[in-house]
Amino acid sequence: MTETFTPPTRFAVPGRIAVSNRAAALWQTATLTEIRRETPRASTFRFAVPAWAGHLPGQHLMLRLTADDGYTAQRHYSIASAPDDDGHVELTLDHVDGGEVSGWFHTRAEPGDEVQVRGPLSGFFAWPGDRPALLIGAGSGVVPLMSMVRHHRARGLDVPLRLLVSARGPEELIYAREYGAETLPVYTRSAPEGVPVGRLAAHHLASLLAEEPEGGWEAYVCGSNAFAEHASRLLVRAGQPVDRIRIERFG
Ligand SMILES: Cc1cc2nc3c(=O)[nH]c(=O)nc-3n(C[C@H](O)[C@H](O)[C@H](O)COP(=O)(O)OP(=O)(O)OC[C@H]3O[C@@H](n4cnc5c(N)ncnc54)[C@H](O)[C@@H]3O)c2cc1C
Repeated sequence: MTETFTPPTRFAVPGRIAVSNRAAALWQTATLTEIRRETPRASTFRFAVPAWAGHLPGQHLMLRLTADDGYTAQRHYSIASAPDDDGHVELTLDHVDGGEVSGWFHTRAEPGDEVQVRGPLSGFFAWPGDRPALLIGAGSGVVPLMSMVRHHRARGLDVPLRLLVSARGPEELIYAREYGAETLPVYTRSAPEGVPVGRLAAHHLASLLAEEPEGGWEAYVCGSNAFAEHASRLLVRAGQPVDRIRIERFG
């Protein structure tokens, strides 16, 4: 669940990303163009959305599936792609056991299928690229943070950005091939040889917070309820101001 926030009617941010709220209120057709396996339980689904009004890194959308008998199911999904993606939007979905929507995507969806989307939604968790960003995610909670990393790279931004991503093991680390020097993976159950195993802890944050970039860090935390609580508690204990911690919960 996203914290309450009333977004302005129009965002204008460095690099000319502008997002109209009127467009976000309309359902539009998204055509699945590609499916990429990320981990044994997560895949990325790429959609052509010709009328997409643009988004800010960190925002999500509402997705709707409609059955032949008119039954519909709607779910929120974070946008994984950077804003400049040529009329396309990418989502990365975990396969939830018994999950209605994620189950359909992982077992039935094929390129050419059409779904409905509405968005972008939630300005609160958005990062326009204008301030140092400390990103902390677990599991598929890394999805909106990856949009920020991709945006940072695509625009060649020099504002500091760091990503701490927690996964059970290397085989469950979503986007593993894409991480660079900005990212520190934390493995909770199994790790590559020589890498410690353990939960996200104070020492992971200490060195990052010690960097003290100009203007200070804006922290973005995303994952399950339990992870969001744990990570934000560590941040506060490490001295991060509460009003500079933004949280998105998938649970
Ligand atoms: C703002 C926001 C952004 C989100 N972004 C993403 C994203 O980028 N990628 C992604 O994979 N998911 C994301 N989610 C979660 C997503 O909206 C769905 O909840 C998820 O895909 C499960 O839907 P489903 O229809 O497959 O399962 P359902 O049919 O709704 O649920 C099936 C069973 O699984 C349980 N369950 C539901 N959701 C979860 C979950 N997330 N983890 C574990 N168990 C669950 C339910 O309690 C139920 O027992 C996001 C949620 C929010 C609120």
